[in-house]
Amino acid sequence: MSDFDYDLFVIGGGSGGVRAARVAAGEAGARVGLAEESRYGGTCVIRGCVPKKLMVFASEYAETVADAGAYGWDLKEGAFDWPTFSKRLNGELDRLEGVYRKLLQGSGVETFDCRATIKDAHTVSLSNGAEKTAKHILVAAGGHPVRPDMANADLGIVSDDIFHMDALPKSILIVGGGYIACEFACILHGLGVEVTQYYRGAQILRGFDEEARGLIAEEMKQRGIDLHTGTNIVDMRCAEKGEEPEGMGVSVQQVGEVVGDSAMMGQEDHGGGTRKGPIWVKATNGNSRVFDRVLFATGRKPNTEGLGLEELGVKLGRNGEIVVDDYSQTAVPSIYAIGDVTDRVNLTPVAIREGMAFVETVFKGNPTPVDHDLIPSAVFTQPELGTVGLTEEAARDQEEIDVYCTSFRPMQTAFIGRADRVLMKLIVSKASRRVLGCHIVAPNAGEMIQMAGIAIKMGATKEDFDRTVAVHPTMSEEIVTMRNPVRSA
Ligand code: NDP
Repeated sequence: MSDFDYDLFVIGGGSGGVRAARVAAGEAGARVGLAEESRYGGTCVIRGCVPKKLMVFASEYAETVADAGAYGWDLKEGAFDWPTFSKRLNGELDRLEGVYRKLLQGSGVETFDCRATIKDAHTVSLSNGAEKTAKHILVAAGGHPVRPDMANADLGIVSDDIFHMDALPKSILIVGGGYIACEFACILHGLGVEVTQYYRGAQILRGFDEEARGLIAEEMKQRGIDLHTGTNIVDMRCAEKGEEPEGMGVSVQQVGEVVGDSAMMGQEDHGGGTRKGPIWVKATNGNSRVFDRVLFATGRKPNTEGLGLEELGVKLGRNGEIVVDDYSQTAVPSIYAIGDVTDRVNLTPVAIREGMAFVETVFKGNPTPVDHDLIPSAVFTQPELGTVGLTEEAARDQEEIDVYCTSFRPMQTAFIGRADRVLMKLIVSKASRRVLGCHIVAPNAGEMIQMAGIAIKMGATKEDFDRTVAVHPTMSEEIVTMRNPVRSA
């Protein structure tokens, strides 16, 4: 028996922290404590993936109803009722939070509903005044969205606030071109909000395959999202009398009434900026416009401030992230860190993997580095982007490649005259014939890429794909029927 209160103390009850805590306690028999200052489940369950995906589902019904009509169904297009959805959403999040708490209890983890800071290499101070000692401390404190450094930025909301809106705005400006900006542009457009998006770069979704980015941008614009690339916000303030959101035909004084949103009447948003009515915005292209809301989807920052890390000798990187080695160990040997707080690959399943590898290494005597190679992921735009491995641009810098690519109108929507296109693309090494990357832009591409990811992780060659029989008629059959490269590089 050690002299410490616990073998492990985890700071943060999100996906990574909860998994590490319950596996260490449940499977390795460790005495584990965990502190969470907000809600159990963290970003993914409470303010991210889960509520976002439910909003994706909600937003897709608009098209489904329209398409059903073209297919011969006699359906009446109704209106989306945010309060109905929001009530059910919050009920689901409460249920999931309960599941997370029960999982921890069930595996014998002692939980503390308070903030924890690190006092020394083996001690945490809790905001309830208690101090707890532990042989190991695991920081899994996650991250938070950030607004740009500009005057009045607090007039804008961030992704955390979306789920707490009393009502949907009529119009919104989304600033940013990453995952969150593009996903919410599609979601809110689907729910009937007039969406304008400003992205400062030449093309949205920087870092993804260029052809895939291009198609998604086209599809978003075609669906009605007013996307402006090479454009940023330079100035913002509360709209003045007479300045009105474009296309709404209502004056500033009327907007709160029309939208019926208490947050629009100058009250404090839940967790977000203070809204004082519509917002006047000036863009880099010289245009000024008024929007009901502005959403800053301008990146996230690790939650390391005020944890007491640097004072102890834990190294932080330029974005405030905790610097760790391959085993998630920090510069202070008893302190480890996993998930978004380390700003490696900020995805829930990766945080969970990092938590599991930490337990293997520290509590099961099996040093396990985290494998960050070939991680499949999806961007839940409409259409979705599913991706694994290298982009064409990164692969051709590395070696000679063949590119196999096809873009076509899928049967389901081509039948009713919609112009939607999908894209299937494989990047193949000329030397080894291994598939280095796969990029799919299509409805449900997230589901497809999970399967392709297995083959690619196993080292499948293009010829392995070729000898797999197609499932007909599907969109994804094209991934095994592309005979000739469209180009080599
Ligand atoms: P990203 O880093 O993906 O995107 C941030 C965007 O904001 C970029 O387009 C960036 O532009 C822009 N930006 C940054 N600073 C400014 C500024 N001062 N003014 C204007 N624009 C600015 O961050 P997100 O917040 O969208 O997502 C964070 C992470 O969360 C993702 O990287 C991902 O790991 C994870 N995530 C994953 C999801 C999924 O798996 N489906 C969904 C949502 C999030 P530029 O490109 O020029 O830098």
